[in-house]
Amino acid sequence: MAENTDADAVLAALDDGLPAALDRLMQFLRIPSISTDPAFAADVRRAAGWLRDELAGVGFAAAIHDTAGHPMVVARTPPGPGRSLLFYGHYDVQPVDPVALWDRDPFDPAIQDTPAGPVIRGRGASDDKGQLMTFVEACRAWKSVRGALPDGLTLLFEGEEESGSPSLQPFLRENADALRASLALICDTGLYADGRPAITTQLRGLMGEEIVVRAADRDLHSGSFGGLAANPIQVLVNALAAVKDADGRVTLPGFYDGAPELTDALRADWDGLGFDAAEYLGRVGLGQPIGERGRTGLEMAWNRPTFEINGITGGYTGDGFKTVLPAEARAKVSCRLVGTQDPEAIRAALRAHVRAHLPPDCTVEFHPHGSSPASVMDTSDPAFADARTALTTEWGREAAFIGSGGSIPIAGDFKTILGMDTMLIGFGRDDDRIHSPNEKYDVESFAKGARSWARILSALRAA
Ligand SMILES: [Zn+2]
Repeated sequence: MAENTDADAVLAALDDGLPAALDRLMQFLRIPSISTDPAFAADVRRAAGWLRDELAGVGFAAAIHDTAGHPMVVARTPPGPGRSLLFYGHYDVQPVDPVALWDRDPFDPAIQDTPAGPVIRGRGASDDKGQLMTFVEACRAWKSVRGALPDGLTLLFEGEEESGSPSLQPFLRENADALRASLALICDTGLYADGRPAITTQLRGLMGEEIVVRAADRDLHSGSFGGLAANPIQVLVNALAAVKDADGRVTLPGFYDGAPELTDALRADWDGLGFDAAEYLGRVGLGQPIGERGRTGLEMAWNRPTFEINGITGGYTGDGFKTVLPAEARAKVSCRLVGTQDPEAIRAALRAHVRAHLPPDCTVEFHPHGSSPASVMDTSDPAFADARTALTTEWGREAAFIGSGGSIPIAGDFKTILGMDTMLIGFGRDDDRIHSPNEKYDVESFAKGARSWARILSALRAA
């Protein structure tokens, strides 16, 4: 009974403390911690210092850790008998260009009324300062009610997420023992459509490759050599076209090894989301899903691998006309990966496929552009069901396990370097304009986000 009373008191403390919490977020948002632009390096450090001071003020043992790039902020509570948790967020923000399209100074944030309710407007309001502060505020309220922070907590805040996280992997490796926990929590994702709470349980991986096909040792006149000499653009497009069959399936041998079918439970969850592929495509002027025949729209977006040609160049494309057989052709291609698909095995299969399409007097060169496997969380960990119940209670709508078509590399790093799964829970919305002018975060997302974390912490502490 006391447990319930405390949990309710934490929620009440969050409600009472909302104006002060918003003031703190405003202070944080005023620091222009743009990580990609060296001109803002001192501001990035200032944001790290602000965060460290806040966390120390709440009662964490908090410190700034220098890296080769921008610093990490790490805050901890003493270990305890329950499960240990690692919470991750990032305190850097995207640049503000084009600044003329902002309705106000991006670093002079304000609460604005909109038809959908009040929003916090400013760079970083949603991505990720507002989101990470939902967790910090939940901890603060917890402490104010219970007299101590939850034990076994580590908070890790990065200042380079928006510039590719160059220092993150080395930092995780060097501090693996200190950072490892039974589960990671990341607050850098969104609600599903219409404010429905969600836990992202799988993210697609990525494999990128550049292909350069070369034929003659110079550009050729199509009157003199056309019909006789190999055209590298033709060679390249023949090879690329043969990667997919008429049903949209990738033909590379072994490509689907490790690409799992949906479980019945996940299929039911996703069907219940009411995703309308035609409506989704309608937002970009299309209407016809083009993936594998027989798959639902969400399967195509979240649970099936892809092969895409991202760019292709070669030959004469300038003004007028030039009847040339070019000497070389280039393409950049990438695959989104699922399940346990092996990016390097797929790269090897793609290279073998291109070579098999190559005439003997042509050459091909390959340049790898990164690879990361998919991240699929083990949702049999009861923490997932507990967090789902907590979110459902807070939002009054059934929380869903969802996928993500894109990658969040940090979740993969937590798995491969620290051996831990991640619960991705966020409260952003599709119209938050992250990375764009007039970024915002709904006050409701901030307030209910903090309440959500308080409920989740209660549930996970009791487990
Ligand atoms: Zn982010």
